[in-house]
Amino acid sequence: MTRTTELDAQYIAHTYARFDVTFVRGEGALLFDDAGRRYIDMGSGIAVSVLGYGNAAWEKAVCEQAHALSHVSNLYYTRPQTELAELLCSRSGMKRAFFGNSGAEANECAIKAARKYSADRHGENVRPVIVSLENSFHGRTLATLAATGQDTFHHDFGPFPEGFAYVPANDIEALRAVLAARPVCAVMLETVQGEGGIEPLKREYLQAVRDLTAQNDALMIVDEVQTGNGRTGTLFSYQRYDWLPDIVTTAKGLAGGLPMGVCLLGEKVENTLTPGSHGSTFGGNPVCAAAALAVQSQLTDELLADVKRKGKYIAAELSELANVKSVSGRGLMLGVESDKDAKELVKALLRRGVVCLTAKNKLRLLPPLTIQWDALEEAVDIIKEELAK
Ligand SMILES: *Cc1c(COP(=O)(O)O)cnc(C)c1O
Repeated sequence: MTRTTELDAQYIAHTYARFDVTFVRGEGALLFDDAGRRYIDMGSGIAVSVLGYGNAAWEKAVCEQAHALSHVSNLYYTRPQTELAELLCSRSGMKRAFFGNSGAEANECAIKAARKYSADRHGENVRPVIVSLENSFHGRTLATLAATGQDTFHHDFGPFPEGFAYVPANDIEALRAVLAARPVCAVMLETVQGEGGIEPLKREYLQAVRDLTAQNDALMIVDEVQTGNGRTGTLFSYQRYDWLPDIVTTAKGLAGGLPMGVCLLGEKVENTLTPGSHGSTFGGNPVCAAAALAVQSQLTDELLADVKRKGKYIAAELSELANVKSVSGRGLMLGVESDKDAKELVKALLRRGVVCLTAKNKLRLLPPLTIQWDALEEAVDIIKEELAK
């Protein structure tokens, strides 16, 4: 026991089953614990630290903005928020941005926008239903939990807000049926299900969802909370296809380590939210927005090409192993299914100085996008050794 673990045991709500390590410092893709031990980060604090730790431009942007102006609320204009909104809209093909502080808040905004879009268009015959996919994850607030198609998260928290329906992923007939039977305003999905086990949806399915939602005047909401910010090798994961969503949400890596989420509203819904209809005290905070601008300026085509190369390297190395059943995912968002218990594997890797995650029964790898090749090779070699044991 250290003072930190004692205080945690006594005073922190018991919502986390933590690994037994206290991190105190980071440098690039390396982390250091309270005993000075070095680790290679293959988790990015759950897809957040896209630029790793101590990135010079990010640090400068955050410190300068904290010095100049940390917060004034959304009663006033602030420069970084508007600059960031312009950049995100121009890079995503969306029209307007609503800033919150997390993925769940970004998705709450998307759900509210979809309901209001329907209310504006259909009046008394409002279509309240949001369809999401089985095995999805959209957040921990009551509405985003309702949208999450995994019962394990639901126990003991009901009743939930009404108006959610679930269909199996990659089953277009199931979606067709629910669109015919229920008053649907939107379909919400992740193009690669993250918490659900790094399961990419099929290209044809996504295209069919786009076509069917458009035909039924329903919105297509793409949750890029985990897949966004360059994680899959494109800025947003839908940018590998030739269609646009109506609403895009992202968070996690958006500000590279500070809390920020955004709901990007496309052409159909750009004027749906009106003054007073939604808001956030902290949303678009100048320090977080400055951090996000520093992240965006480093998510260049070169970096994205590197993300793809690094992802291909990891997948090629690990899929050679006899006891690896599959390597799923894209870019630097990978899931490794093996004959090992994923949780035990992650514990063993942590003891070897490699920080990894799990998603369902898989080992989940989400390293900083800027991880150096030598650190990546070292981590992959250790992961191979542990997998082969
Ligand atoms: C993590 C995640 C969320 C929730 O984000 P929070 O910032 O924890 O609220 C929502 N959707 C997806 C796809 C996620 O991976």
